[in-house]
Amino acid sequence: MLGPPGAGKGTQAERLARALGIPHLSTGDMLRSNVANETDLGRQAQAFMEAGDLVPDELVTAMVIDRLQQEDAVCGYLLDGYPRNPAQAEALVEAFGDEVLELALMLEVDAEELIQRLVLRGEEQGRADDTEDVIRNRLDVYEEQTAPLVEYYESRDRLARVQGLGTIPEVFGRLIEVLAQ
Ligand code: AMP
Repeated sequence: MLGPPGAGKGTQAERLARALGIPHLSTGDMLRSNVANETDLGRQAQAFMEAGDLVPDELVTAMVIDRLQQEDAVCGYLLDGYPRNPAQAEALVEAFGDEVLELALMLEVDAEELIQRLVLRGEEQGRADDTEDVIRNRLDVYEEQTAPLVEYYESRDRLARVQGLGTIPEVFGRLIEVLAQ
């Protein structure tokens, strides 16, 4: 699941994974839980996350490779928030081969709507990185580092674009339609 912060990746990925009967693997959730549990990884990741920067590739990639080898991921998984740049995409292919990701689902939402949604989420959920300054940085980081993945998966014929504006069920319906094709 690909898309800018605030596009609804987490919400939709959770529903989609449930519908497909596969685990929803969110690197953001995994990292937040490491921070909350004060693990070594959490301690190393925390400052990057609070600034809205990417956690170094080697830390996140090791975490994902480990997770994908667990038993519940054998029959498939929905990755949310990974890869976040082309180097991470390549690291996955290196570890598991070219079939590691079947399809990249790109949720498209324009920037103005994103900021509104993220500010609202910050108020509702109290996420430390949903403050206005950090949101702006996360959107910049997305444009600079993650957006090149659109081209990466498009050129490999593995990209499906889905309009992310609308209600949660509307967007969910579009995702299901794309997967049915
Ligand atoms: P998310 O919940 O996906 O918005 O992720 C929250 C934060 O976790 C991001 O702003 C990054 O600091 C970090 N993060 C999540 N996934 C990755 C990743 N694949 N690579 C590097 N940092 C990540």
